[in-house]
This record gives sequence, structure tokens and C-alpha cells, in this order.
Amino acid sequence: MQAVLKDSGLKVTTQRCKLLKFLTQVDKQHLTIENIYQGLNAQGETMGLNTVYRIMAHFEQAGLVVRRLFESETAMYELNGKPRHEHLICLTCGKLVEFADPLIDLRLWLAAERHGMSIDHHSLNIYGHCFDCKQKLESKSGR
Ligand SMILES: [Zn+2]
Ligand SMILES: [Zn+2]
Repeated sequence: MQAVLKDSGLKVTTQRCKLLKFLTQVDKQHLTIENIYQGLNAQGETMGLNTVYRIMAHFEQAGLVVRRLFESETAMYELNGKPRHEHLICLTCGKLVEFADPLIDLRLWLAAERHGMSIDHHSLNIYGHCFDCKQKLESKSGR
């Protein structure tokens, strides 16, 4: 943890180490500040919500995490350095699926090329309803 922090130019503090450790160990890959705060406290760490905010902002600046804004107003964070991927998001339950498709990458590259642009990064979020929610909706409407 210390090395990762140092490499990204951040001062090593106990709280930063704890937060980073939490992010690398947690199962869920997309987390809100609230999620992180609750998760840490559930592990017996006492870290204030404001502290989590502040540290995540530093992590974002240092490129350790990526902030993503999905349909909901709440920002979600995920660790940086994962392979490029797109997101499918269920509008009902918030389920989030990641996928990668080289053809999408190619089409985006071609589109950018056509407009004389180079791509630094991109984000593609697809909204809809997951299988479970679709089934629930359909059974509700009596079909
Ligand atoms: Zn759903
Ligand atoms: Zn993701």
C-alpha cells in the first residue's frame, strides 16, 4: 500500500493506507462514498464521512481511482488500472455489469479518427433493465 501511495505522489498516512487496502479487498468494484464509509466502519475502522470524501478526492487526483457518474447523481468510484471496460446499468435495481468489446473500441477509434481526434479515455454507459427486474415488471403487468 505504501509503495502504491508513494508512486502516485501521495503522502503516506495511516488513513490513506486503510482506505486503499479496503478498496483493493472489497468484492464490489463500484462504490459510492457512502458505501466506502459504511464498509470501513463495519470493519471497525472509525473514519469520518468527510475524511473518506477528502481521501477519495486525493486518490482521484492522483489517478488511483476513477470517478464515474451513472444515471443516479451519486458518484461511484472504482480502482484505476483495470482493463478498459463499458458498463451496463439496471435502472431499477442499480445492478452494474462490466463488459469489454474490442469492436466497440475499434468503432470509437474510427469515429474519433474521422473527426481528427485522439482518444484519451472514454466511458460508455448503457441503461436498461436487468433480466430479474424485467421478469418482475412483466409478471406485475400480468403477462
Ligand atoms: Zn435490475
Ligand atoms: Zn467499471
